[in-house]
Amino acid sequence: MYDFLIVGAGFAGSVAAERLATLHNKRVLVIDKRDHVGGNAYDHLDEHGVLIHKYGPHIFHTNSQLVWRYLSQFTEWRPYEHRVLSSVNGKLLPIPINLDTINGYYGTRLNAEEAERFLESLAEPREQIRTSEDVIISKVGRELYEKFFRNYTLKQWGLDPSELDSSVIARVPVRTNTDDRYFTDEFQGMPVDGYTVMFERMLNHPNISTMLATDFQAVRNSVQYREMIFTGPIDEFFDYRFGALEYRSLHFRYENHDANLVQPVAVINHPNEHPWTRVTEFKHLTGQKHSSTTLVYEYPTNEGDPYYPIPRAVNKELYLRYRTLSEQAPGVYFSGRLGTYRYYNMDQVVAQSLALCDRIMGTRRDYAALQSVDGA
Ligand code: FAD
Ligand code: UDP
Repeated sequence: MYDFLIVGAGFAGSVAAERLATLHNKRVLVIDKRDHVGGNAYDHLDEHGVLIHKYGPHIFHTNSQLVWRYLSQFTEWRPYEHRVLSSVNGKLLPIPINLDTINGYYGTRLNAEEAERFLESLAEPREQIRTSEDVIISKVGRELYEKFFRNYTLKQWGLDPSELDSSVIARVPVRTNTDDRYFTDEFQGMPVDGYTVMFERMLNHPNISTMLATDFQAVRNSVQYREMIFTGPIDEFFDYRFGALEYRSLHFRYENHDANLVQPVAVINHPNEHPWTRVTEFKHLTGQKHSSTTLVYEYPTNEGDPYYPIPRAVNKELYLRYRTLSEQAPGVYFSGRLGTYRYYNMDQVVAQSLALCDRIMGTRRDYAALQSVDGA
C-alpha cells in the first residue's frame, strides 16, 4: 500500500514525491505514461551527441529564493541569461522590444527618454486592458504590434491576440532601455548536468518507486494507495464530463549542422514568415562543447500532446467547473500546468507543488521547504 500515487513525473509530480518522501517519510509511487522522467522539461543527447530538450527550449528563471534554493539541492547551475532576436523586415531585432529594437526598426537614434515619448505618441490608450491586443497596442501602437506580436500569436495559438487573455502577451515586457534579456528574474540558469539528471536525483529516494511508460488507466484499479496527486489534464481525469478544455500543441523539427554555432543567440523568433514560430539552438543554453550543433523549429498545432492551456474566458469557465468537481473528489489533489490548467512556468509549478504538499501535510510553507534545504 502506497501513501501516495503521483500521476506524472514532471516538476509538479517529482517535487511532490520528493517532499512527501523526504520530509514526511511517505511511501510514494510515481507513474508517467512517457518512458522518461522530467515531463516537458526532459532533456537527452540526440543521435549526434548534442544535449537537446525533447519538448522545446526550457530556460530556468525565478524571483523565488525558496524555489531556487529548493532545486539547488539537486543541481548546480550554469549561469545563463536568455536573449532572443526577432526577425522583422529582414533585420534581427531584440525582443522584448527595447531601445535598440525601436531605433533599429525606425532607423532613429533616440535615447531612452526620447523613445519613451515616441512610444507614448504611438500608443493607443485603452480604457481597459482585457485582451493581449490591448496590452501591446496601449504600449507601442499598432505598427509594432502588427510586426512583432500579431502574427506570432496567430501562429502560436491559432487565435488573434484580441481573443486571448491579457496575461499571455503581458509575459513579454516593453522597455525603453537597452536591457536585451528575455527575463529579468533574480535567479536564472540552466542545470549543469541537464534537467533529467536533476529529476533523477530528486526521485532517488528509498521511499519513492517509479513506473514509467505506465498510464494512470492501466494501474488505477491494480495499485493500492491512500491518496493521489494527479498532474495530467484535469478534463481527461473526469472523462471530459463537461466537454474538453482547449490545449495548444507543438510539432518539433530538429536539424543538426556541422558547425559550432549557426545563430547569434539561442532563440530567433519568426513572427511574419514561415510556418514555425521560433528556432532554438541548444548549445547556447547548455554551453555544451561539441563539433556539431542542433536546432529545433516549433510548429504550433492543435494535434498532439497538450503543451499549452489556452488562457481565454471560455476555458476559464470550463476549468472552474472541473475545479469544483475536483473539490468533491476526496483524497485526490490536482497540480501542475495541466492539473490546474494554468499557463505556468517551471518555477511557478515548483512553488505550487511545494505549497500543495504543505497543505496536504498541514505544515507551514516556508518553514517546511526551507528546513530541509538548510539541512536542519
Ligand atoms: P508536465 O511537465 O507536462 O508533466 C506532466 C506529466 O504527466 C507528463 O510527463 C505526462 O506524460 C504525465 N501524464 C499526463 N497524463 C498522464 C496519465 N494519464 N498517466 C500517466 N502520466 C500522465 N517553463 C519555464 O519556466 N521556462 C521555459 O523556458 C519554458 N519553456 C517551455 C517551452 C515549451 C515548448 C513548453 C511546452 C513549456 C515550457 N515551459 C517553460 C513550461 C514548463 O514546461 C512547465 O511549467 C512545466 O514543465 C510543467 O510541469 P508539470 O509537472 O506541471 O507538467
Ligand atoms: N509573443 C509574440 N511575439 C514574440 C514573442 C512572444 O507575439 O516575439 C507572444 C505570443 O503570443 C506568445 C506570448 O507572447 O505566445 C508569450 O511568449 P513567451 O515567449 O513567454 O512564450 P512561451 O515561451 O511560453 O512559448
